Amino acid sequence: MSTEHDGDADADDGTVSPYTLQREDGDDARHAFWADTVADRVEARDPDEPIVVKGGISPSGVPHLGNVNEIMRGYYVAEVLRDRGHEVRQVFTADDRDPLRGLPRTLCDLEGNLVDLGEVDAGALGRNLGAPYTDIPDPFGCCDSYGDHFSTIIQDSADAVDVPIELLSNTELYENGDLEDVTRFVLENRDRAREVLAEYQDKVDADYVPFNPICEACGKITETVTGVDLDTGEAGTVDYRCTDMDAGDQTIDGCGHEGTATLREGKMPWRFEWPAQWQVLGVDFEPFGKDHAEGSWPSGQDVARNVFDNEPPVPMVYEWFTLEGEPFSSSEGNVILVSDVLELLEPEVLRYFFAKDPAKARDFSIERLDQLVDEFDRLEAIYFDEIEASEDETAFAKRVYPLVVGEPKAERVRLPYTFAAVLGMTDDPDLREEIARREGHIPEDAPEWAVEGALERVEQARNWARRTENEFDYELKRTEIPDHEFDAATEDALDELAAFIEAGHEPEEIQSEIYETARRHDIDVGDFFSAGYRLFFDEEQGPKLGSFLAKVDREFVVARLRRER
Ligand SMILES: [Zn+2]
Ligand SMILES: [Zn+2]
Repeated sequence: MSTEHDGDADADDGTVSPYTLQREDGDDARHAFWADTVADRVEARDPDEPIVVKGGISPSGVPHLGNVNEIMRGYYVAEVLRDRGHEVRQVFTADDRDPLRGLPRTLCDLEGNLVDLGEVDAGALGRNLGAPYTDIPDPFGCCDSYGDHFSTIIQDSADAVDVPIELLSNTELYENGDLEDVTRFVLENRDRAREVLAEYQDKVDADYVPFNPICEACGKITETVTGVDLDTGEAGTVDYRCTDMDAGDQTIDGCGHEGTATLREGKMPWRFEWPAQWQVLGVDFEPFGKDHAEGSWPSGQDVARNVFDNEPPVPMVYEWFTLEGEPFSSSEGNVILVSDVLELLEPEVLRYFFAKDPAKARDFSIERLDQLVDEFDRLEAIYFDEIEASEDETAFAKRVYPLVVGEPKAERVRLPYTFAAVLGMTDDPDLREEIARREGHIPEDAPEWAVEGALERVEQARNWARRTENEFDYELKRTEIPDHEFDAATEDALDELAAFIEAGHEPEEIQSEIYETARRHDIDVGDFFSAGYRLFFDEEQGPKLGSFLAKVDREFVVARLRRER
């Protein structure tokens, strides 16, 4: 099988390239939206209802925006299938029986605040290396376990972008017996399992058993099974010895205990667990990152077909995206949570980001968030035939926009994001609305809900300005005139500028008049701008002054330039 993104058709032995969106088999209908292409393939399986779309995550640490990718990609395929009349379940497994393999440097509380490892009980975490996430105490003390803590944040993230996932705990699937039959099956057929896996992994020898019991003495996941007895107990047992576990650059010590575990007291290794989840949950489609594409997907589909005799789901590799051009990394602090992003923009804008082609690498930039919001506004305007666009862009907008917003409402009002950022320089809600109306961004007949919705963006754009400390991060000192001291020439110049603005002029005219006035009075232009920033912001610097003064109510601007209030 080729490892290039070359659009290979399926091979003769039935293996499927996971690069579903890059394949060109020639018989696909052309769709404006990638999720329709995936849905075609799911329908081609002739699946039972409800159709099952799955995703999954090991709740190992800060669940950031990158992890939401998988939830949103699955969601669009689920929505398209629902749109076509199918019943769909979107399940998401918290792979929380996985062992903690190393100490994360950064964690986060349920509110999404990042917390250094040093601020929690790191010793307790250290003693639990090698134990399943659900057996480790919550370092914040608010949830049942470490795994439960981070699963809760995943669920909150999905809720925040209004995606209805069924979050399933892998630990619960083992404990309540849902995975017992399939575990027993793989142990019954362990010779076959070993034979298939050996094609993908070097360390698979004659002693390999596809089950890792939890040591009853120390609580760690063990990898040394010394015996399998499928005739004892409900479904059988395995004997084990608790040995050291290789965890990347370190070794997690085993305690040496020898014991016996049931099939509910442990887990299958990931290479079997994943195809076992497909089988038990009846999965029809699963998107995943590039890390799985060359590793557990090739072995997984082989295990599904040739050990479980089950057709693996339709796969789809999605590209990871970067944050400000760098990979997501909670330890490097290059991380953002969904809750943070939703303080900066509307959920539908974030949903739109994930509607874009998953096969293309892209960047999420907080610095340039205005571009993403503008793009969304454009999509919306195209949908409502308010602006002209190419045929492709129009087809995309018509298909995708309703899925992004849920219910299209033609009367909604959007303030351009950077304009909203300008309005955010004042706290006064009435003034914000007045300026927005005067500038023509709120139509006179706009319904109340639409006006309220539009003005919510002001708060978000203001948060953006504060977070990035960009050119909109200024606070208009409206209630009281800041302390100031000007020479006579500057005072005359300010009075003249006030008269000019009082007469009514365009933003660009005001901007050049500021230069002209300074020159006429022989004042350094930089000093004159500073005088303006002093009066309005109590700062030496500020936004582009001409266009700013043109936007704020004239009466106030004139009085302030005259130092009256
Ligand atoms: Zn918690
Ligand atoms: Zn042990």
